[in-house]
Amino acid sequence: MTRKIKVLDTTLRDGEQTPGVSLTPNRKLEIAKVLDDLGVDVIEAGTAIASDGEKEGMRLIAKQGLKAEVLSFARILQKDIDAAMECGVDGIFLVAPTSDLHIKYKLNSTRDEVLKKVEECVQYCRKHGLVVDLCTEDGSRSDLKFLLKVRNLAAELKADRFTLADTVGVMTPEKMSVLVSRLVDKSKIPVGIHCHDDFGMATANTLAAVVAGASMVDVTVNGLGERAGNACLDEVVVGLKLLYGFNVGVDPKKILSVSEFVEKTCGIPVPPNKAVIGENAFTHEAGIHVDGILKKPETYEPISPDFLGAKRTFVLGKHAGLKAVKKILEDEGFKMNDDQVSEVFRQVKYLGDKGKHVTSVDLESIANTVLGLEHKRALKLEELVAVAGNKFTPTASVKLRINGIEVLSAGTGTGPVDAAINAIKAATKDVPFELVEYHVDAISGGTDAVVKILVKLKTKDRIVTAEGVGSDIILASVDAMVNGLNSIMVHSK
Ligand code: MN
Repeated sequence: MTRKIKVLDTTLRDGEQTPGVSLTPNRKLEIAKVLDDLGVDVIEAGTAIASDGEKEGMRLIAKQGLKAEVLSFARILQKDIDAAMECGVDGIFLVAPTSDLHIKYKLNSTRDEVLKKVEECVQYCRKHGLVVDLCTEDGSRSDLKFLLKVRNLAAELKADRFTLADTVGVMTPEKMSVLVSRLVDKSKIPVGIHCHDDFGMATANTLAAVVAGASMVDVTVNGLGERAGNACLDEVVVGLKLLYGFNVGVDPKKILSVSEFVEKTCGIPVPPNKAVIGENAFTHEAGIHVDGILKKPETYEPISPDFLGAKRTFVLGKHAGLKAVKKILEDEGFKMNDDQVSEVFRQVKYLGDKGKHVTSVDLESIANTVLGLEHKRALKLEELVAVAGNKFTPTASVKLRINGIEVLSAGTGTGPVDAAINAIKAATKDVPFELVEYHVDAISGGTDAVVKILVKLKTKDRIVTAEGVGSDIILASVDAMVNGLNSIMVHSK
C-alpha cells in the first residue's frame, strides 16, 4: 500500500480548543512554521471570526509563504468566510453539522436548510477562489443517506474534499471501515477523516478510515484538542508508515522536536508512558528486556529509535540486570572488571529495593567508590539564604565554592525554590546546562514531610539525573542541583 496520505494538522484550531490553551498570534506563527518544516500538507490555522488576535495570527501565517496549504475554520455562514478571506488564507475548513441531533438541537434547523447553506457557502468560496474542505460535524452519528447527499452536493459544487468528523469520538474501527467504504465508493472528491479520542480510539479509527479509502487525516500534535483531544499526529503518522506502509510526507525524524516545542508552547505535558513520543517510549529498565535489546534491538523495540531520531536509554532500578549495568557503565566511560561490575550491580539493586531512583549521579558515585577513586566534587554549597512572603519578591543568595574559589550570587524567582535555583544558575553561568525537569515527591505525609527532589540537567551530549533529599524543600532542591552540576563539571574537564 503506497497510496499517498495527506496530513491536515489542526493543532492551531482544534488543538487550541484544549482546555487551558490559548496562544498569542506570534506563538501561532512559530507553531505553523515548525509544522510546515515537519512536512504536513495542510494547516488549519484557527477560526478567523473568533477574535482580533486570531485574525492577526492567521494573517501572519497566511503571508509567511509556507509550503502547506493554510485554512481557516468557518461555520456555514458567509460572515465566517469573509473573516477568513480578510486574513488571506488559501481556503476554508467549512463545517456543516449533519446529524439530526446537531441540526435540531444546536442549530434549530432542518436538513434542507443545512443543504441550502452548504450550497451557498461552497459556491461563495469557489467564487472567491478558496479551497474548500467540507467537513460534516458529528458525521459519524448522521444518517448515511443524508451524508451521501451532502457528499454528492460537495462534489457537484467542486469542493476540494469531503471530511467525515467523528466529533465526539464514538466510532469503532469496524464501524469506521464500513462507513468510510460507503463514503469513498463512487466519490468524485477525496475523503478526509477527523477523529476524536473520547474512547481512546482516535488513532485506531483514523487508521481504519485510511485503510477503507480515506486519503487525508486530521491530526494534532500531542493529541491536543477538545475534551480527550484529537487523533495525534505522531501515532497516526508512525502507524500509517510502519504498520501499513502508506506514503506520508511528514518527516518522522522531526516529530519528537515538534512535539517538545508544542508541549512547551502550549504548557500541556506529554505523559511519560505516551506511545511514540512519551519519555519512556525508548527507555528500558527491566533486566530481561535490556539483555534482549543488547543482543538484538528488535526483541523489544517495535519502533526503532533511529526511525524517529530518538535516543535509546537504559535506566537502573530494582529490575536492572547485570548486563544492563555493565552496558551503562561502559557507556559512561568506566573501565571495570567483572568483579567490580558485580559490586556496582549489587549496590544498585540494594538502592532499588529501598525504593530509590538510581540516578546517573548515584551510579557515578558508586562506580567511583568501587574503583577506589575519590569522588571529585567541583562544586560545594557553603551557604543558602532564601526569603519569601507576601511583601517581597522571593529572593535567594548562595555562597558556593567552585573549584576552590568562593562565589557569591543571588537570584529572584516566582517562589523561594525558583529564586534559589536561579541563584545557582547565576553562579554557574559558565557551565552549559539546561534544567529540563524538576520533580518533587513527598516521602512522608504532613507539613514536616521529607521530600525527594529529582532534577534532570541536559548538557551537550547527555542528561544527568540527580537527587536531593530532606525536610527543607529549598535546601533539597539546591542539593539536587549541586549534585547534578558536580557530575557535569567533573565530566567536562
Ligand atoms: Mn474536532
